Amino acid sequence: MKVQILPALQDNYMYLIIDEATQEAAIVDPVDPEAVTTAVQKNNIKLTKVLTTHHHWDHAGGNAKLLKNFPNLPVYGGDDRIEAINHKITHNDTFNIGNLSVKCLATPCHTRGHICYYVTAEKHPPSVFTGDTLFAGGCGRFFEGTADQMYKALVEILGSLPEETQVFCGHEYTANNLKFGLHVEPDNTTMQEKLDWSHAQRANNLPTVPSTIKDEKLTNPFMRVHEPSVMKHTKQNDPIQVMSYLRREKDNFKA
Ligand SMILES: [Zn+2]
Repeated sequence: MKVQILPALQDNYMYLIIDEATQEAAIVDPVDPEAVTTAVQKNNIKLTKVLTTHHHWDHAGGNAKLLKNFPNLPVYGGDDRIEAINHKITHNDTFNIGNLSVKCLATPCHTRGHICYYVTAEKHPPSVFTGDTLFAGGCGRFFEGTADQMYKALVEILGSLPEETQVFCGHEYTANNLKFGLHVEPDNTTMQEKLDWSHAQRANNLPTVPSTIKDEKLTNPFMRVHEPSVMKHTKQNDPIQVMSYLRREKDNFKA
């Protein structure tokens, strides 16, 4: 299994998931169809699926145009509002990309129909494609959901994946997220180290993805709502109230 990171627009990421054994591939959120087409040709692979995380235009807005280059391509997603969707999936649905196994994880909150895709392969750490639900160091805004739903998504669903799972998120927001994280937990040295590393990566025009579930549990305040230090900062003792407080605070935070 190989994942090729394709930057798009201002700070979006598209991901080409390649099964090297069969040369079959899927593309996550192909908002820039030309770049996807070029990458498919360069890698000499067969594109067999589009995986859409949610209906927002900066994720789903390239689907119809991509279908012009790849007619009859199945477009997966969990929301009827997704452009050109023809394979509606729900929680725990499974399918394959060549020999890779994909499991759909419904994580409503940023949007009602948001899906994360959990991909496993033999002799390779698992990967999860989290769209605008989980970012490195942060999470998406609660446009169509509640703190309770984001708690389920981050802590119960994504938080129970194996710690070595690689996290491929929808945007390059890591440095700003970690600045907020350090406002919440000024003494978190792991967070500070990751912020320094993120600045160095970006200075070299390199991405800060993938992260890992383990890393997120150490550096993402939204996955740390049970930590005494985070509870103390928010002056809340119920993890869902902590989640709600953090989101409101982050929405108004100037890094
Ligand atoms: Zn979005």
